[in-house]
Amino acid sequence: MAQVFITKSHLENIARLISYQSIDVNHIRGFYESRFLGFFSTPELNTLTAVSLVLESIKDEDLKIKIITLHDNAKARIEKYNKNENSRWIYVGSKPAYHHDEKCISLRSTYENYEIPVEIPEDKIKDYRTFFLNNIDEYTNKRDVFFAKVELKFNVRINNVKEVHKENSGQQSLNVFTGGHKKILSEISNIIEEMHKYKNQSNEVKRIISNTGFNTKKALKHPLYNESHEIIREWDNYKTKLKDLIIQDLTSIITPEYKFDHDFLEELGFKKCSKCF
Ligand SMILES: [Zn+2]
Repeated sequence: MAQVFITKSHLENIARLISYQSIDVNHIRGFYESRFLGFFSTPELNTLTAVSLVLESIKDEDLKIKIITLHDNAKARIEKYNKNENSRWIYVGSKPAYHHDEKCISLRSTYENYEIPVEIPEDKIKDYRTFFLNNIDEYTNKRDVFFAKVELKFNVRINNVKEVHKENSGQQSLNVFTGGHKKILSEISNIIEEMHKYKNQSNEVKRIISNTGFNTKKALKHPLYNESHEIIREWDNYKTKLKDLIIQDLTSIITPEYKFDHDFLEELGFKKCSKCF
């Protein structure tokens, strides 16, 4: 059995997928005093519970089977609604990877994607995707030549392509941490104290956080809260920090080595990283 790593965001993705089914939040409540979890909504607590179950499954074969079943159910449900082929992105549905090497270069690389312009008709999306990948060097180095080729081949004129670039957070992304349980707990206590101070600095801030704090991501997209963005974003940052610390802490308690069985990950749709295997 090969012992491999996955990034923290992949761990969370697995957890989020299975968190909608037969998850009992009393499980996560068993780990912490209630003040540690009071800022999270039920879906967030479900995800944290699912994280703890995925970590526990590293040493529990029955739990592994349960997670694979829950994961398959969730995937089947999602795929019904997702017709990936027609997605207007160049890279779709690529499999997540697991790594052999903690210092793997691709853990540090950026995530990139390119939108397929609306000018390309629905029935040409597949052709354009292949064309783009074959001509990606020209796209990068000689943009005008690339656009001319598009015009020739697809009979449409485009002059802009939306791109996504996301920095990977390097080592941090592996769920690696320096302190043990005690140190992380004190960091958690500190951040909770900061959050209380932030929330109680004025009635205005208190009101906004009471209204939006349970679903900051959704509130940030809602026009009703346009004027409160700065406060909601700050609160969202606090919650993300708190959640990351709790996941680190769960890892340190449940499985400090944080090494997964590759067969289990392949059942969940992962593939081996091409850079470190
Ligand atoms: Zn790798």
